[in-house]
Amino acid sequence: MRVVIVGGSHAGISCALRAREEYPDAEVVMYEKQGSIGFIAQSIPLYLRGDRHFEKLKSYTDVPALERQGIVVRVNTEICRVDTDAKTLEVTPAGGAASTDRYDKLVLATGSYPSIPLAFGSYRDSLYLVKNYEHAMRIKTLMETAKRIVIIGGGAIGVEIARALLYRNVPTTLLQSHATILDRYVDDEVSADIIDSLRSAGLDVHTGAVVTEFEEVSGPGGRRQAIATTSDGRVFSGDGIIYATGFRPNSFLVGDAAELGDKGAIVVDDYMRTSIPDVFAVGDCSTTNLTNVARPVYVPHASDAFRQGEIAAINLTGPRQRINPSQGTYNLNIGSRTMCISGITRKRAIEEGFDAEIASYRNEFLDIDDLLPSDDNDEDPYYKVWLVYERGTHKILGFELRGTATDLSPYADLMSLAIERGLTVEDLEFVDFYFKQGYANPRSFSKYLAAVVRQQDPRA
Ligand SMILES: Cc1cc2nc3c(=O)[nH]c(=O)nc-3n(C[C@H](O)[C@H](O)[C@H](O)COP(=O)(O)OP(=O)(O)OC[C@H]3O[C@@H](n4cnc5c(N)ncnc54)[C@H](O)[C@@H]3O)c2cc1C
Repeated sequence: MRVVIVGGSHAGISCALRAREEYPDAEVVMYEKQGSIGFIAQSIPLYLRGDRHFEKLKSYTDVPALERQGIVVRVNTEICRVDTDAKTLEVTPAGGAASTDRYDKLVLATGSYPSIPLAFGSYRDSLYLVKNYEHAMRIKTLMETAKRIVIIGGGAIGVEIARALLYRNVPTTLLQSHATILDRYVDDEVSADIIDSLRSAGLDVHTGAVVTEFEEVSGPGGRRQAIATTSDGRVFSGDGIIYATGFRPNSFLVGDAAELGDKGAIVVDDYMRTSIPDVFAVGDCSTTNLTNVARPVYVPHASDAFRQGEIAAINLTGPRQRINPSQGTYNLNIGSRTMCISGITRKRAIEEGFDAEIASYRNEFLDIDDLLPSDDNDEDPYYKVWLVYERGTHKILGFELRGTATDLSPYADLMSLAIERGLTVEDLEFVDFYFKQGYANPRSFSKYLAAVVRQQDPRA
């Protein structure tokens, strides 16, 4: 069996490794159009901050490591066309002539690309994207001389990049089209809390700012200035504009030969099969099933990409293992505070037909300075939880957490499982959680939240 994987990032790599394990006799071939594999985009903020750990943290594997496992890896090689009837691919190495390869099973792990502006004006050189290492290097060069940088997009990427720029003392403006930031991840109250802390860290945040026009002008001393104008006439300028308005699935190889879904992502079933026989799609190019959301949606997350890659490999020769749904679990470092989430927001839950409510609970750490991360340690240490639940059943739908610890993600992992399994607030109330010394209330947050939920929505 010849297994061909297109794309050498997280989804493709996890698929190749698992295919190797499941089918020792198969040929496993991976094509990647860039010069290296497995770049972790999460490390871009570290790079911009000048973190000395970046080199070690930017990837977890390389071509020789995969080749030692018997996987054939062709970097700098693009797949330009696929014929799913003949089961062939057109292979084009950088600077070389095209040739044809064949497959028995094809896995598309072609990922995503940054959505780019649909706005008027001439702005090409002033526009900066955030997806790969080359993009990060371009932004770093801009940072070295910039007097101000404008970021468009108040999602996770825009906010993380903004914090990295502020860390390097680059004056930064963040423009967000919606009324709140991080609105896909958190409810309004949490967003307002995050905006407050970003503003007090020096970020110039503007919401309801829909940019419709860009312009490059020559400023004082011939210095190039990028100007962004919003639909309501507000004008913002900087030395460059970073565009962080999300990602789109790179589904062009199969085009409309395959069924496409949300945002044009390749529709897959629970076994990562597309509508084309023997063609699978994984990671950012495919759709994802979210718990408590009726239809498959587009969720470009590395955590899902890894899982989907492996699941496709297991099912190459027939459906053997369904994928667990996603809870969109995410962790975001915003300066000295961390935010993590799992499940859906209250807004989203209501759209999905739930009678949803939020219960919140704040716990303080005892005031020990050393517990705080070093870059901004003048805040009172704390964590605060917002739990989205269904009235009546008390089923947990979503979880949003902010706090001053550097890594709160284990809470999100735990709640991801609770949400996937449909647990209620009461199911978690008396679970044996670790007794955490150093908190004003040492018992688990689930204990306190259950009391809040019962106060808000007494059980019959
Ligand atoms: C700044 C930043 C921070 C992020 N932080 C997080 C986070 O904290 N948590 C999280 O879960 N996710 C995060 N993400 C998202 C995460 O990086 C993506 O979900 C993940 O990279 C998707 O992996 P993938 O393998 O599906 O696709 P991609 O990483 O998009 O890779 C696809 C690969 O396919 C190659 N390719 C495409 N077409 C072809 C072709 N025709 N021929 C050959 N090769 C091809 C591309 O060159 C690319 O290497 C972040 C993203 C960014 C940009």
